Amino acid sequence: MTARVLIVDDIPTNVRLLEARLTAEYFEVLTASSGAQALEICETAEIDIVLLDVMMPVMDGFEVCRRLKSNPKTHHVPVLMITALDQPSDRVKGLEAGADDFLTKPVDDTQLMARVKSLSRLKSLTDELRARAMTGQQIAIEDALRAMDTISASGGSVLIIDSDRRHAERVQSYLSEEHKVDILHEPADAVFQVTGTTYELVLVSMALGDFDPLRVASQVRTIDHSRNIPIILMADDGDKARVVRALDLGINDFISRPIERNELKARVRTQIRRHRYAMELRESVNHSIAMAVTDDLTGLYNRRYFDRHLNVLLGKAQSQDKNLAVMILDIDHFKSVNDTYGHDAGDVVLKEFSARMKRNIRGVDLACRFGGEEFVVLMPDTDVLNAELVAERVRQAIAEKSFDIKGQRPLTVTVSVGVSFNETLADTPESLIKRADLALYRAKREGRNRVILDAA
Ligand code: GH3
Ligand code: MG
Ligand code: MG
Repeated sequence: MTARVLIVDDIPTNVRLLEARLTAEYFEVLTASSGAQALEICETAEIDIVLLDVMMPVMDGFEVCRRLKSNPKTHHVPVLMITALDQPSDRVKGLEAGADDFLTKPVDDTQLMARVKSLSRLKSLTDELRARAMTGQQIAIEDALRAMDTISASGGSVLIIDSDRRHAERVQSYLSEEHKVDILHEPADAVFQVTGTTYELVLVSMALGDFDPLRVASQVRTIDHSRNIPIILMADDGDKARVVRALDLGINDFISRPIERNELKARVRTQIRRHRYAMELRESVNHSIAMAVTDDLTGLYNRRYFDRHLNVLLGKAQSQDKNLAVMILDIDHFKSVNDTYGHDAGDVVLKEFSARMKRNIRGVDLACRFGGEEFVVLMPDTDVLNAELVAERVRQAIAEKSFDIKGQRPLTVTVSVGVSFNETLADTPESLIKRADLALYRAKREGRNRVILDAA
């Protein structure tokens, strides 16, 4: 894992110390000796993680962090704060300033590596999601890319897995003001417990008797809906080696026993907030991908998607010497539906038309709205006989039952259909569409409400 780390500290010795450790682990290191310099570097260089000293003259670490987190250009860069003050309140203050994590001086090597690695993993996940969101629809992204700190971190649904009852209940009491907290005493039941419930965070004790806490954690993540659920380990001093391994395996965080109330609350909040942020991003990515390929009104694939897939399917059919049928459908006299009943009624017809068409083709057939009141269906592995069958079935499904429009008398709608087939290796997407279009044109000329096949 290579990440670009910016070390910010006003004391050169500290900078050199951290720099040496990180470069030894193949991180790329940049340095800054003041808050102002750090902000400037973060704006221009692509920084993956900021290691930020809290106590600096002029602008302290809290302020630098707040500024980084409120700037849209930098708010996604993880900040790891380094404080000399081993005061829980300062840790909390740091996390509340938007810091993603913190370390206390003198910096422990294991902790440093563990935290930096875990943050750089988070960063690359966020980067990927951001990049994917960027290629999608602008509206959805602007919503999703709002600063992480505007996302609520309370009211979370938390599960504690701990076989020590008293300990579990104490941890629960620390959190239950803010969150809904369940306890599971029996680690063997973890998968069962998580199934059907949407937890947003799991706290796993590392003292589970015969059970390997890392195994319990990974089992929790095998459940489909909890695949990305954040996990915090509750560790004892002797657990260091296992904690490092756990962080390498993708466990999000750990907290050392005895557990300090405010630190726990802050870490839980941070994980819940990140999780919600990632979920929102993911949803928006899915949404924008869907938006980019489907037609709003009918929910069918759009023209753009169709073009791409016709290309792929034709290539496949040609290389495997298989059939491919292209069916173009155009609603008859649709203009008069609009003219007589209004545009909204026209839209209702288009929707109902799409639904009937979809019901009468196979799952492997690809139905698209080609534009206006024209549709196209790609039918792989379909010969002339079967294509005619399908086309006829769709035509009948439209014509035989009238369309209901609110406040109007039922409306009879018909459709004309043209179908073409791949014939030679010289066929192109354009030639297939052209031939289907000519067949459609013939169907119109010969009286509409009919199917014409190009295979003469
Ligand atoms: P033909 O039988 O020759 O196909 O006649 P037609 O009236 O269906 O053909 P024409 O292409 O002249 O008219 C298509 C109409 O479809 C014109 C346009 O206003 C309407 N239309 C296109 N897109 C939409 C839409 O999204 N909603 C509605 N309501 N109407 C649409
Ligand atoms: Mg038309
Ligand atoms: Mg028409």
